[in-house]
Amino acid sequence: MCGDDTKPLTREHALPTWTAGRIPGDGPWTVRLGEGNNAPDGQREDAKLSVVTRTLCDECRSVLNDLEEWAQRNLGQMMDASTDRPIAATPRAQRYAASWAVKTVMMVDLCVPTSVVPQGVRERFFRERAPSDDALVWWAALSDMEPAYWFRRRLITFEQGHSAVYAGLKVGHLGFVVAVRLSEASLELVRLGRMLDGFQPIHGPTLPHAAWPPEARLIDFRQFDDELNTMFAARVQPNGVEPGDAADGSAQ
Ligand SMILES: [Zn+2]
Repeated sequence: MCGDDTKPLTREHALPTWTAGRIPGDGPWTVRLGEGNNAPDGQREDAKLSVVTRTLCDECRSVLNDLEEWAQRNLGQMMDASTDRPIAATPRAQRYAASWAVKTVMMVDLCVPTSVVPQGVRERFFRERAPSDDALVWWAALSDMEPAYWFRRRLITFEQGHSAVYAGLKVGHLGFVVAVRLSEASLELVRLGRMLDGFQPIHGPTLPHAAWPPEARLIDFRQFDDELNTMFAARVQPNGVEPGDAADGSAQ
């Protein structure tokens, strides 16, 4: 993650094992991985939630451990929606939540075929221990539980030739959209973010004090999926060139 390839690297769960405890039900996990918008390439049953990448040195691991402990204390109740009262989310909590979303997107991106997050983005995150100003993060409260986990990301290119990584991540009832611009065009990202109905920005130019669920409402997972697809489709180069690598992964 930090880019220092002289250090020994260890295995780490990209989807933290504690999150499995926030998902109701028991029995094996059904894992589906797919590319693009095609049907899943494969499906397997796992006894445990196991999405693992070997990319962390001890130093990266300690950065992540601190973030994970915070997330377990604060995001767990959002994932399982165990509260029927709004949860206050201070600007500090939103910053931590955004950090957790960005690091989880980067980790899962390394576990599914064809990583699209540039190494420079990962290195900067671990140097600054927070999402950079180039990143925008939104969150949403999702109403249903299917699938329990879901992940999709894409490298998209704007008409002017600028590019960005967009990703959607769902853990139980908690949904995130992460956008990282790789060149100029931050206005494009903000504009695309406005298409996300029912989402709350938690990292970016505007950071209002907020409560969770955003706007006190749940949105349907299909709406989440549709809006992300619309965003992916909205800004491709006019000559029809596909904007770089496209990859999907979903775990249920
Ligand atoms: Zn490292």
